[in-house]
Amino acid sequence: MRHLIRDVYSGGGYVFATKAADIARSAGYANPAKLASNENPYPPFPNAVRKAYGALEVCNRYPDEKMRELKDALAARHGDYTFVTGVGMDGVIETTLRALIDPGDRVSVSVPTFSFYGLAVRAQGGEFVGIGREDDFTVDPEVFIRKSKGCKLSFLCSPNNPSGTVTPPEVVAEILEGIDGLLFLDNAYVDFCDTDYRSLMKKYDNLIIGMTMSKAYGLAGMRVGYAFIPEWFEEYYNRAQTPFVMNSVSAAAAAGALEEPAYIEGYVSSVREWRKRFETETRFKAVPGGANFVMFDVSPYRGDEMVEMLAEKGVIVRSCTSFPGLGDNYIRVSIGEDWECERFLEVFNPL
Ligand SMILES: *Cc1c(COP(=O)(O)O)cnc(C)c1O
Repeated sequence: MRHLIRDVYSGGGYVFATKAADIARSAGYANPAKLASNENPYPPFPNAVRKAYGALEVCNRYPDEKMRELKDALAARHGDYTFVTGVGMDGVIETTLRALIDPGDRVSVSVPTFSFYGLAVRAQGGEFVGIGREDDFTVDPEVFIRKSKGCKLSFLCSPNNPSGTVTPPEVVAEILEGIDGLLFLDNAYVDFCDTDYRSLMKKYDNLIIGMTMSKAYGLAGMRVGYAFIPEWFEEYYNRAQTPFVMNSVSAAAAAGALEEPAYIEGYVSSVREWRKRFETETRFKAVPGGANFVMFDVSPYRGDEMVEMLAEKGVIVRSCTSFPGLGDNYIRVSIGEDWECERFLEVFNPL
């Protein structure tokens, strides 16, 4: 019956970092340093957990379809913008594509980057148009605009996964002026850098800023994403979204976390300190970035090879060979707890 499967799903899919964990386990590390998934390594906000319990107790009812509590918390945190929510930012990306993309429509993506855009574009029947970055992983706005001609939607990730590169707001503004369609600016890691793109929302009606509670806010298991969107897009997004798609427990947890942003200040400042050390104290070349991870060029080793070497020593990192357009010699290392970062430096430098 396999011939019934659509072509887009007959090949590979999203690549999970499970192989390295198996290697570490066989090498005797029951509790390896987990530096592959860019998660916040600390337990979630007490207020988030409390609110989640509260929502569980009334989960015989469907969630509030307007997500009022979560949207109020977003307004309190960010100010007066139009927000939509989704099951992770991945869910926001899918719904955005569903609202905009018919089979054959072109969607441009600045690469190398997060692989889910490509999977989701193809799942929707769209045509993926990759736009290469410069050798130092920065974005040339003229190239971006030229390659995005005729595209309904474009994706740009900043800080970029996996390179960490931050694209300045002036460059994003230039892109917004020049493209024909919407720009989806993925800000999954924006809490870790010094750049703020929100003021662009006031000026442009073709900008969507994607956000997630999975990274700085430590709720990866809850699957909550949201986006700043132009007001005109709200009703169409809501029509395209699966009804009641986000569960009430996740929504309550997210609202609780947004109410006490100070809870993550310690984590964010430790990320900044470790990022500086990763960028300056390693013998391999680090790409300067603004996220809670650092990408290294590990030449002459291959990324896959380095991942296995580190796993043998109880450190799980991510090979970047599955990021199209990047080549074979990069790894991405998340900034975890202090002991994990120390362990990484200890085993990485002598290799
Ligand atoms: C992790 C990640 C996301 C998705 O986050 P979820 O909200 O967990 O779906 C989106 N974009 C980038 C670049 C990411 O790294």
